[in-house]
Amino acid sequence: MRIDPWLHQIYMLINQVLYFVNEGDFKNAELNTKSLLKSIQYHLDLKNKTAACYDCRRPYGHDNGFPDLLVQKSVWQKISPTGHEGGLLCPCCLIKRLVDVGLKDVPATFVSGPLKMITEEEMNKIFTN
Ligand SMILES: [Zn+2]
Repeated sequence: MRIDPWLHQIYMLINQVLYFVNEGDFKNAELNTKSLLKSIQYHLDLKNKTAACYDCRRPYGHDNGFPDLLVQKSVWQKISPTGHEGGLLCPCCLIKRLVDVGLKDVPATFVSGPLKMITEEEMNKIFTN
């Protein structure tokens, strides 16, 4: 029987909550309960086609201050909120996760919204004129 990766993640989170409750570690039990609820909310959003940031719930779209900020697939796999290629993070939460895992000088670009990506050289010209 093939188990959906999301259901497996839910199963693992429930087991972690039960483990921490059993150990009397209610702080970690609460943290894992929050992760569990976020994961469920994320999948409800997918089902209802209401995309939002996994971490802060900001609705997707540059009108909401949530343009597409792209990073390499190998980088995304290190910060993905769903533990695989899925998930959606706003630029602020994406950057927070990069910092949390200790990544620096990560190539990235906005591909929607009002910002146009320019080189450091172009930036220096703008600020010296
Ligand atoms: Zn966010």
